[in-house]
Amino acid sequence: MWKQWQSRVSNLWRVETYTMGSANGLTVTHRKQPLFSFGLISDVQYADIPDGRSFLGVPRYYRHSILVLQRAVKQWNTNQRHKFVINFGDIVDGYCPKDQSLNTVKKVVDEFEMFKGPVYHLVGNHCLYNLPRNKLLPLLKIQSLEDQAYYDFSPVPEYRFVFLDGYDISAIGWSQDHPKTLEALKFLREKNPNDDKNNPTSLVGLDRRFLMFNGAVGKKQMEWLNGVLQESTKLKQKVVVCCHLPLDPGASSKEALLWNYDEVMNLIHRYICVKLCISGHDHKGGYSIDSHGVHHRVLEAALECPSGTNAFGYADVYDDRISLYGTDRMQSTDMYFHPKADL
Ligand SMILES: [Zn+2]
Repeated sequence: MWKQWQSRVSNLWRVETYTMGSANGLTVTHRKQPLFSFGLISDVQYADIPDGRSFLGVPRYYRHSILVLQRAVKQWNTNQRHKFVINFGDIVDGYCPKDQSLNTVKKVVDEFEMFKGPVYHLVGNHCLYNLPRNKLLPLLKIQSLEDQAYYDFSPVPEYRFVFLDGYDISAIGWSQDHPKTLEALKFLREKNPNDDKNNPTSLVGLDRRFLMFNGAVGKKQMEWLNGVLQESTKLKQKVVVCCHLPLDPGASSKEALLWNYDEVMNLIHRYICVKLCISGHDHKGGYSIDSHGVHHRVLEAALECPSGTNAFGYADVYDDRISLYGTDRMQSTDMYFHPKADL
């Protein structure tokens, strides 16, 4: 049954059409209308510095990436039908000179604000290398208590979007003596024997995620997530979970995963309302369907687009699926919900 469903999904044509009869004998074919759509982009990582390479040697185009964002906003505005846009984090690169951090973050946020509608931001590690939470979150218009960056909203009665804070327990972003910094450093000392805690050498398999540039969802946020999923279940809402850090090893490099992705997914799997998890951080992108039929899509980075190319997209949201339409380097993905996991 499971295999059959997977092959049915891969064989389905992206745009579903249906036929309407008409009085004069003509047959008119209409595309099924989505409930709504939204724009998406990840890892702009802009900085006014020369092009460079990642640790693994992948080219990074720091000045070009803001042009990708500008083209994305222009396209979303031209389409005129996206209810909102989601930024999946890392808007400014860690190499941005620190005396320029504030202005550079503002410059990228201003580009997002050219979109004629709401923009929802996720916090990434590179954002936190540049600014502490108390400076960053107001710029991103994330309002929450105690500088936390998790929140949710419901764009239509049938759906809810949940934004997780993957750097809740983290060695970056909080002050050096903050209990969360201390907890993260203790965790890294236990899990990663290397002097440089961003070095995965000697870490085996999934343990390679225990790096300083990742983080975890803390206990209080887990309780909050549980409450949101309970409420969504009661309201018969389908849920899309967004997190800068990926939540499934099938869709991501092991080195990019949330430290406690397994705990978060165990909680999510207790419910059937979560249909899709979307992330950034792992620049090459990825896609998987996990053992419970939840889709995981990691978005290709805007930073890695050579001159003139793009990586952004939009998603059409239906009752039974979400279809992502990517531009250039962002892959398009049709994500049909598992029939057993229907509400
Ligand atoms: Zn990142």
